[in-house]
Amino acid sequence: MTEPTLTILPAIPIPAFMSGEVQSKLAYVDESILSATVEPDGSMIQIIFKPQAGNVNQETINSKVQDVVALMVKGVIQPRTQVLEDFLDRPVPSKQDPMPELLASQEVSQEGRGIYTLGPLITSLIAYFESRFLELADSFSAVPYRFPTLISAKYLDRVNYFKAFPHSLSFVTHLREDLENIDQFAQHTHWEDESLNAGPESFSKIEVLNSPAVCYHWYFMLADQQLKEDNLVSTAVGNCFRYESSNLTSLERLWNFTMREIIFIGHGEYVLEQRETGRQRMTGILEELGLAYRVESANDPFFIGEFRKQAAFQSAFQLKYEIRASLPFSGKTLAVGSYNYHQDFFGRNLNITLPDGSPIHTGCIAFGLERMAYAFLSQYGLDKNQWPAAVREGVR
Ligand code: AMP
Ligand code: ZN
Repeated sequence: MTEPTLTILPAIPIPAFMSGEVQSKLAYVDESILSATVEPDGSMIQIIFKPQAGNVNQETINSKVQDVVALMVKGVIQPRTQVLEDFLDRPVPSKQDPMPELLASQEVSQEGRGIYTLGPLITSLIAYFESRFLELADSFSAVPYRFPTLISAKYLDRVNYFKAFPHSLSFVTHLREDLENIDQFAQHTHWEDESLNAGPESFSKIEVLNSPAVCYHWYFMLADQQLKEDNLVSTAVGNCFRYESSNLTSLERLWNFTMREIIFIGHGEYVLEQRETGRQRMTGILEELGLAYRVESANDPFFIGEFRKQAAFQSAFQLKYEIRASLPFSGKTLAVGSYNYHQDFFGRNLNITLPDGSPIHTGCIAFGLERMAYAFLSQYGLDKNQWPAAVREGVR
């Protein structure tokens, strides 16, 4: 059976540089959508509906899609992409997507949408990458922390997270403390049609979420404090969650992934200096890993209505750079890490001050561990003999 489709010609033209950004948001337009693609030149949108969606009102979908396009592209100005490093043409031996082979050998197994277990090869590869990130963290004398997987809704609210990234939130709940409710659940709940058959009335209100990032925990820990020192550096690794809807594909885009961060707190100049030093030190490490990549300016995936203003702001103040590794099999690149500067955003919203009373500035260097492994295997394949010497020797 072929799924019903809908072709939409955007009333407002989508500039090519926005096609990916708009496409990623279209997944959230309606529950009936299985996938949405925007032509790379922005001229056309193709929607495929879920087979079980039944009779969808195509006019309603068309109008919702046109609204998203208008909100995201009306008046948008193409940011000048700043390229700080370009090693995309570093020669690499593989041109194959490693995913089929990884799945066939159970080196990667899918447990659910966007949820994968990883086998011994990827686990050792990630442990090796981690040892290199820790070497970078040590070069800053970063102090180690362990942060929880759950994150407090109260603090996320204080930093406007619900406004900026509502689409990617992952909520955590529990059964309401009510004996009858818990008994009912225990007796009747089963997996049915891709979800549990329990109704929303069984569950508590939301107090915590699954954490979307690592560094937030450190800022939340320091909320409403005046620091005794001017400069602080820490490092932590943690589980992160971003619900990416139908964009959840292979190890490229996960619901549950792992991030290693090195986090800087201090005056603005200090944080910017550390971010830049970190980037330069990483250049040597990435060369040893043999990674084909480039570092370029970027923006966070803000939700539809917030996108234009916030992305322009990030770009104007050079707040975010991404390490984008090449995926030779697709000719595209994938962000495996980022260099971020938040100015005094967390300092102001969380009331954290330096010894002189000014709000702290913050920044972080973040690495996506699964993506590092995926990009590396896309470039070098699964045969260790093809790997650069440093990686071959580092992975035991
Ligand atoms: P960000 O804070 O968005 O710059 O994320 C830091 C890094 O985490 C990115 O460069 C990616 O490597 C990784 N990452 C972010 N989102 C995902 C995802 N949905 N799946 C896998 N890795 C991700
Ligand atoms: Zn961070």
